[in-house]
Amino acid sequence: MTTAPHLKSPAPAAAPTALQLDQALQLLTHAGRAAPAGEPGSGPWVQGLIDALVELSSRDALTGLANRRAFELALAREADRVARSGEPALLLVLDIDHFKRINDTHGHAAGDEVIRAVALALQDSVRPMDLVARVGGEEFAIILPNCGAAFGETVAERVRRRIESMPVLISRGGPPVPVTASVGGAFAPQWVRCTPGLWLERADQQLYRAKAQGRNLVRLEPTASSVVSSEEKRLLFDTFPMTDHE
Ligand code: GH3
Ligand code: MG
Ligand code: MG
Repeated sequence: MTTAPHLKSPAPAAAPTALQLDQALQLLTHAGRAAPAGEPGSGPWVQGLIDALVELSSRDALTGLANRRAFELALAREADRVARSGEPALLLVLDIDHFKRINDTHGHAAGDEVIRAVALALQDSVRPMDLVARVGGEEFAIILPNCGAAFGETVAERVRRRIESMPVLISRGGPPVPVTASVGGAFAPQWVRCTPGLWLERADQQLYRAKAQGRNLVRLEPTASSVVSSEEKRLLFDTFPMTDHE
């Protein structure tokens, strides 16, 4: 009697491929991070390596702040949280004023020092729960969860003044370099499905306004309820049909 095909013993499993972890480990140590704890190759060691790489891939190398990728993830999470909980949140975007001039006058390395100093100042002027990110060359963003309209202006002004009041001493010497930044901001509309892209766009528009009106200024969008865009209205009312929402 022949064995039915489905009763045949299973084919021997392919030999497990050896994990190529050397390069990953090299990447980590090259970035000045400690190697994971535990027996190399063991489960906890590999998990430690993965965790460290995830952390490394979400940091900006120059400043140690969250990078653009981590910022976009956090913004999407925050937009979702605001839509579900109805808690207010503020997004600030900042751009150093006339930064090209700083680079041209003092050199690129000094420019990097200015970027690092601004990063420190930003981190230092917000709450630990706020996320500060470097999203471009001399551009930053701050996500402030649970920040109501009544506080937005105060927080944004504090950040702007903090930068203005800290001329940066650069290592090659000379007088401190004066630095200012323009700040734009927008609140996430509460109770409305708020897309991260639109939220960022609205904050960016305010940043352009601050630049156009003279720089070293804060410009916040008027509070959420009055500025729900037609795109956001569509998202809201497509989800919860109503009759007279125009
Ligand atoms: P504005 O007030 O309109 O923002 O003027 P700006 O001179 O700051 O204009 P812009 O934003 O166009 O210039 C940014 C410059 O930042 C251009 C680029 O050479 C420089 N830059 C971008 N990334 C870095 C970096 O990592 N280090 C340094 N030192 N410079 C950078
Ligand atoms: Mg810029
Ligand atoms: Mg600039």
